[in-house]
Amino acid sequence: MAPGGGSYQDVIESNAAFADYGIAPANLGYESSPSRKSAATCGKRGIASNTAVHELLECPVCLNLMYPPIHQCPNGHTLCLNCKSQVRNSCPICRQELGNIRCLALEKVAQSLELPCQYHIYGCQEILAYNTRLRHEQNCRYRLYNCPYAGAECSVTGDIKFLVAHLKDDHSVDMHDGCTFNHRYVKANPQEVENATWMLTVFNCFGHQFCLHFEAFHIGMAPVYMAFLRFMGDDHDAKRFSYSLEVGGNGRKLTWQGVPRSIRDSHKAVRDSLDGLIIHRNMALFFSGGDSQELKLKVAGRIWKE
Ligand SMILES: [Zn+2]
Ligand SMILES: [Zn+2]
Ligand SMILES: [Zn+2]
Ligand SMILES: [Zn+2]
Repeated sequence: MAPGGGSYQDVIESNAAFADYGIAPANLGYESSPSRKSAATCGKRGIASNTAVHELLECPVCLNLMYPPIHQCPNGHTLCLNCKSQVRNSCPICRQELGNIRCLALEKVAQSLELPCQYHIYGCQEILAYNTRLRHEQNCRYRLYNCPYAGAECSVTGDIKFLVAHLKDDHSVDMHDGCTFNHRYVKANPQEVENATWMLTVFNCFGHQFCLHFEAFHIGMAPVYMAFLRFMGDDHDAKRFSYSLEVGGNGRKLTWQGVPRSIRDSHKAVRDSLDGLIIHRNMALFFSGGDSQELKLKVAGRIWKE
């Protein structure tokens, strides 16, 4: 349904198509009618009408699916709640004053619908009642991930495969194969902790990708460095792995053993929970050789499967 003229026509046609299949009367008003399920899922005609209804439920302005409460103008043009709040009480199609008219019939049709999860192209098999679909999609394990790069505001989202390519191509992130690593962090002026030095390296192992973050910030007044690992995948998969980090010099050594956090947890959330190897700056400089001129940390690590 395109924005602008002709929308009302579409509504009438779709309604007619819907009624032809004989499912509209059964659905409207009878929430748990036994024909509800069969209308939505069985037979070619059922699927065709489902598509027509799906189009009906598309907001003519933003083209997103409308969820109750669905509003309409006195001429019957429907509108989603979000768009209604933005059009200053004037129907975007016919310019009539909108008022506060609900489209109860369409709301009932919506409540009777069952639709596949929007992430079905990424593998989700769920078929959901219209009104529970949003809640499922917010937590669907196939939903897209945010870019794990923490240095700048990056709004890119995607599945893991896409994000790995994105990190490599757009953020020039170092990629390493293997479950053990030896990483060297060198910084010429370690006094500038407030500059939030940070680095990201990605490790490929066990067929998964792990992000090693290294950064500098303050805990209270104390400047610290922190290294931690995030798992590129869901939380329940992240918990199948463990990792250790080790840093030292001058005969001293700090070690950390932890569980990688899913990249569903924001970089900042992991940092703020201090769930990683914390090195106070004095100790970091001591590990570096002690002349306070340069930070030279060697972080050794290992990832293993529990
Ligand atoms: Zn809308
Ligand atoms: Zn209108
Ligand atoms: Zn899903
Ligand atoms: Zn990015």
